[in-house]
Amino acid sequence: MLRRDLDLLGRRAHDVVVVGGGIHGAAVAWEAAARGLSVGLVEAGDFGGGASWNSLKTIHGGLRHLQRLDIAGLRESARERRALLTIAPGLVRPLGMLALASGRGRTGRRALGIALAATELLSRDGARGVATPLPRGRTLAEAEVLAEVPGLLAAPEGGALWWDAQVESSERLVLGFLHAAADAGAVVANRVEATELLRDHEGVVQGVVARDVLTGARLELRAAVVVNAAGPAFARLLGPPGLRTPKLCAARAVNLVLRRPITREVAIGARTGGRFLFAVPWRGRTIVGTGYGPETTAAPELAAAFLADARRAFPWAGIEKDDVALVHDGLVPARGAPDRPLTRSRLVDHDAEDNVPGLLTIVAAKFTTARAIAEQAVDLVAERLERPPVPSRTATTPLPEARLLDGPLREGVRFAVQKEMALSLEDVVLRRLDLGTAGEPSGEDVGAVASVLAHEFGWDLARIGAEQAALAAFYAARRVA
Ligand SMILES: Cc1cc2nc3c(=O)[nH]c(=O)nc-3n(C[C@H](O)[C@H](O)[C@H](O)COP(=O)(O)OP(=O)(O)OC[C@H]3O[C@@H](n4cnc5c(N)ncnc54)[C@H](O)[C@@H]3O)c2cc1C
Repeated sequence: MLRRDLDLLGRRAHDVVVVGGGIHGAAVAWEAAARGLSVGLVEAGDFGGGASWNSLKTIHGGLRHLQRLDIAGLRESARERRALLTIAPGLVRPLGMLALASGRGRTGRRALGIALAATELLSRDGARGVATPLPRGRTLAEAEVLAEVPGLLAAPEGGALWWDAQVESSERLVLGFLHAAADAGAVVANRVEATELLRDHEGVVQGVVARDVLTGARLELRAAVVVNAAGPAFARLLGPPGLRTPKLCAARAVNLVLRRPITREVAIGARTGGRFLFAVPWRGRTIVGTGYGPETTAAPELAAAFLADARRAFPWAGIEKDDVALVHDGLVPARGAPDRPLTRSRLVDHDAEDNVPGLLTIVAAKFTTARAIAEQAVDLVAERLERPPVPSRTATTPLPEARLLDGPLREGVRFAVQKEMALSLEDVVLRRLDLGTAGEPSGEDVGAVASVLAHEFGWDLARIGAEQAALAAFYAARRVA
């Protein structure tokens, strides 16, 4: 159960304080707690409400890394795909990926076949031990491609099919990690923003100063090590003490959630403008991703440009603006230019890089590998604490609460409030019950949730109106211009 105990957060001297409750922060909290460390975690907004909410939901194996000849990245992704299939089988499932072949170069059928064989060979250890082993990848003739893709009239060069995985609900997976962490003793709180690092006279980091967003109260969280897992905002904590930030820029990334399926069971990849776009089947709908642009471009404008790309990549699908139920909008780190997103996450040890002990920063590139980065981070924490090494068990220990909240709506809302720290209508609709993750839910459903929340929190009509207006504003900002 997640309990917002700010008194304990401030009172306890933690081994680790984690800043940020996205997939990385949640995975670090569980990794550290599972190894017997005392953990505090603060999230400025709501758990899983940042970049993690906006993921295309694909858990990548290694094929993309092979294209860059990044063999370590390939193996890491394949291992993490296996880990997530093992620890969260209720949320993470195998997903077929079909790329249409084109030309004779790297995206020709022959080259794709060779790439699949090489990926499988190199990631063999990432395929072992999965309860349902993933089928082998293979090339497909035109007729087989046409059978998979409704509406496609010709695929003269065939295609390639391989198996990755998909997380049905990225926000529920974040909560799954947090539940496991809290059950192992971590103290986690949303609506608490870390405002600055606490450092001693020698510059050693000793915790963070934080602000309770609900009351404005100041808190001090003491820790032997701070793990900065603030996602796209990672540099904000580093700027004031003048720590070096990795030389990266932020790119805006968008996906389009379509109201209708444009593929049957497998995701379809097609190339346009030098990039592969994927149309991913999800809950009877489709998510098309991912488009990148400058951080300063507003999401509706970037989504409009990306819609044009998607129409070029999947001309047979007839995608129209009206098909778009929701735009995913998040920031990701990029190398110099927005169309060069970072492909592997980085863990920065500020002791080694800046001579500032007690601080680690995660520069996150992928949802897929969050658990692996968390394991590396906690290895460093344990080293700093000079604790006897405790082996990690998070790649194989199931997360009991990594599941959808099914059942009657009223019970789900109560569970979200009483056991999962939901504090607003948005928390429940967008990040606990999955009512609004595929587009705006019906007024009737929103009203039903609001009335249970009003009862739980004693909200008056003005408060209910404000909560509903905030939810409507969220969807208004996530449309195609
Ligand atoms: C459109 C899009 C599609 C993507 N698709 C995929 C995909 O298919 N597969 C994949 O593997 N990856 C994908 N990614 C990348 C992936 O989503 C991110 O790498 C990952 O979610 C980052 O997780 P995080 O925990 O580091 O960041 P976040 O989820 O952003 O979490 C950071 C949290 O820190 C909080 N925070 C910030 N500052 C503070 C502070 N001072 N105090 C307290 N809390 C703070 C924020 O509120 C936030 O909740 C995609 C990303 C985008 C945007």
